[in-house]
Amino acid sequence: MKDIHIHTGNFNGGLYFSPEEISLSMKALNVERYYFSSTSTGNLPFREVRREIESLVEMSHGRAIPFLWVSPGMLRHSRDLRPYFFRDFAGIKIHGLQGWNPHGKEIRRAVSIAGDNNLPVMLHTGEHEICRAGAYLRLCREFGDVRIILAHGRPLDECITVMKECPNVYADTAFMPVNNILILRNEGLIERVLWGTDFPVMRYFYDIPPEDYYRQKISEAINILGESDFTRITQENFNA
Ligand SMILES: [Zn+2]
Repeated sequence: MKDIHIHTGNFNGGLYFSPEEISLSMKALNVERYYFSSTSTGNLPFREVRREIESLVEMSHGRAIPFLWVSPGMLRHSRDLRPYFFRDFAGIKIHGLQGWNPHGKEIRRAVSIAGDNNLPVMLHTGEHEICRAGAYLRLCREFGDVRIILAHGRPLDECITVMKECPNVYADTAFMPVNNILILRNEGLIERVLWGTDFPVMRYFYDIPPEDYYRQKISEAINILGESDFTRITQENFNA
């Protein structure tokens, strides 16, 4: 199986998701390929971020594929982000609460850089008005050639609206109740749902060991969706 939404790095309140932890856990969980970004971006000098990325890629023996997490500060430092592309990336990640205006020039420049490099963009979505799924409708429409992943798909009704209007838009399942995946399926959108977990960010929210959380999520998803749609969102949809 694959996972589109994994993190290494420093996280709120002093947690650290080391490359070792991620690499070992993903192996234990049999995740054959995972796409990750560094939550240290913006908190640590970029050379530290770079070291984390390089060591996770190396340790994972090709299972870990990096997304470049981009902050507005990085764009101010470099209009084309070139200094940050020290290696190939599989996509870029934008967290709306880091000072992005969902309609602003900066986010549009970032998405256009992704488009120029044929990379998808993952946008964090949440209940806050500047990063609700609906706040990105215009952006997703304007960049219809860029694959855009609405991480978490929140709120779900807005995520559905954006996905229906924009065939270039996907949703990931990080922290998404399995019932919401069912709703996406009923809306005819299952082919654009990607398995993502935000592993190991659940360490911040729950006491349960993150690998146990992950296994529970898998069995819940298989029970509720069935094997074939589980395979679809954890495997087939990644090939699109
Ligand atoms: Zn995340």
